[in-house]
Amino acid sequence: AGAVAFEDVAFAYDTDREILKGLSFTVPPDGTLAIVGPSGAGKSTLARLLFRFYDPKAGAILIDGQDISNVTQNSLRGAIGIVPQDSVLFNDTIGYNIGYGRNGATQEEIEAAAQGAALDDFIAKLPDGYETQVGERGLKLSGGEKQRVAIARTLLKNPPILILDEATSALDSRTEDEIQATLGKISERRTTLIIAHRLSTITYADEIIVLNDGQIAERGNHRMLLAKK
Ligand code: ADP
Ligand code: ADP
Repeated sequence: AGAVAFEDVAFAYDTDREILKGLSFTVPPDGTLAIVGPSGAGKSTLARLLFRFYDPKAGAILIDGQDISNVTQNSLRGAIGIVPQDSVLFNDTIGYNIGYGRNGATQEEIEAAAQGAALDDFIAKLPDGYETQVGERGLKLSGGEKQRVAIARTLLKNPPILILDEATSALDSRTEDEIQATLGKISERRTTLIIAHRLSTITYADEIIVLNDGQIAERGNHRMLLAKK
């Protein structure tokens, strides 16, 4: 489940400037599509349409064949998980931070999510384990560790569709490679949309779309597009 289709989607925030200009693509169930392109190309806008923060001016967005204009934002939130660029940590335990956003998550579920995010070994070495206080007033986590918390938080919801929105852009390149390896594994079992500035680390996408000025400038796989650089 979780097929995503954009059919000739056009969008403008203001009357005269079109931001997305008849955009079409499909991501098959459990497929992985990366959308790359320069700042201002329309990548975040596309993600906002998928969450129905805005609706297209023309065309349609379908999930599993259903037009999302008939679906509430709430149920879309259940279907789509997002790993953002910067995740917020609360001054609370690491277990709370992983479980945040899903009431009543069991310790077992939290540990499974931590494992999926490759955070379990790190937590096991902490003297207080999942009860360790993190954030400003507790243990300071590195950028990579914070991103793993964000990944675990998203995995706990087990969404059929996963959006990685510049999920590793703020990290140094070694940490970025490590986190991308984890994301590559996670993407195998669900429909994944990767939004990124750069192609470099996204070797696991089935297809890559280069977005420029609201249109598809190029499409292909990682090898094909890197060969052109
Ligand atoms: P990207 O994510 O590729 O950097 P965005 O989708 O954020 O691109 O932006 C695409 C274009 O839409 C940019 O020209 C940006 O200035 C404009 N834009 C983004 N958000 C808004 C908004 N809320 N109102 C008006 N214009 C916006
Ligand atoms: P998000 O939901 O991703 O936090 P924001 O609405 O805060 O998105 O804006 C994301 C980007 O869109 C910003 O980088 C900003 O440059 C651009 N943007 C937001 N509002 C406008 C606007 N009114 N005009 C032009 N660009 C905008």
